[in-house]
Amino acid sequence: MRAADALAWIDEELAELEARTLRRELRGIESATNNLVNLSSNDYLALASDPRVVEAACRAARDSGWGAGAAPLVSGWRREHAALTHDLAEFEGTEAAMLFPSGFAANVGVISALVGQGDAVVLDRLAHASLVAGARLSGATVRVFAHNDYAQLEDLLKKQRSRFRRVLVATEGLFSMDGDLAPLGEIADLCERFDAMLLVDEAHATGVLGPDGRGASSELGVCERVSIRVGTLSKALGSLGGFAVGERRTIDWIMNRAPTFLFSTSLPPAVVAAATAALAIVKSEPERRARVLDLAAELRRGVSIIGNDVGPIVPLVVGAASRAVRESAMLATWGFLVPAIRPPTVPRNSSRLRISVSAAHSAGEIMKLVNALNEVRGGRGSDQ
Ligand SMILES: *Cc1c(COP(=O)(O)O)cnc(C)c1O
Repeated sequence: MRAADALAWIDEELAELEARTLRRELRGIESATNNLVNLSSNDYLALASDPRVVEAACRAARDSGWGAGAAPLVSGWRREHAALTHDLAEFEGTEAAMLFPSGFAANVGVISALVGQGDAVVLDRLAHASLVAGARLSGATVRVFAHNDYAQLEDLLKKQRSRFRRVLVATEGLFSMDGDLAPLGEIADLCERFDAMLLVDEAHATGVLGPDGRGASSELGVCERVSIRVGTLSKALGSLGGFAVGERRTIDWIMNRAPTFLFSTSLPPAVVAAATAALAIVKSEPERRARVLDLAAELRRGVSIIGNDVGPIVPLVVGAASRAVRESAMLATWGFLVPAIRPPTVPRNSSRLRISVSAAHSAGEIMKLVNALNEVRGGRGSDQ
């Protein structure tokens, strides 16, 4: 007799996902992008393949070896890590900076260091999975407000603030799947009024938004009012890793308490050196971010998106997952790699085409993309 197959449920679950067009699979980008214009990357400033970034990584690997070998507080902290945190703090205009293995790990670590049982984390409904994971791991009570609805946030704080010891409000600065900005000025007002800490996740905005490229907080003029800003080295900075910036005392505390910092291996020196080189380019070549923003504005005009969204992410909500997949496949025949984003990445019935513009695109490519989108989608803008 065959032993019971304790994993048999997985076959059924996967078949179910397949039937709902929700099964996800890896595909080699080399074959997928054969001759396709890639509009699916977070490498907004085209720094991941910049020769200066690549060379910085090679040099650090030759000088310091590949792996860091241990967690930062054990023996995994090298001159490359010290140089990057120094440059990040300077770039962000903060007292201190720290690194994490990824942006995901940064959010999880920061939140679980700042709050615990008896506290509350208040999240925007569309906040990234890593903010949700951090909130859950922290043991704090989790509350949610409707997307960018600061009136609802105010209501929630009014009614519930007194029940908790500490409160942390957490939001993305520039939303990853919707491409819109959080109303950070209003949210900062509320945090000050109700004695709450404010975390802003700048994953998609670092290097791209704000006069200095610091991100959404600087675009909206609230850097000084945000308790802790979290970012990633993995998007516009073209490398891998996460970071947090803030006051010295805050960073010191997080280093002493964040499990994803304390109990995870330090980033390879070469990965860190690549990010340092990319950050220097962000500072010295502001024309890169200007170009991305211009191209994205061009695209929005072309598909008749009105409003004041800024930033490189242009989502076109289509609703059903099957339709997003179909339209994405049609765009591939036009020569464009535009991903269909489906649940669980976005809420049900809000599947979308998500276009990421980068500094590597040309105005001609964006024009052709607009034509393709208008053909495939019959001139519709976003259904949102
Ligand atoms: C991508 C992303 C992260 C995670 O960053 P990684 O460095 O890729 O782990 C966190 N928050 C938001 C909003 C993101 O889009």
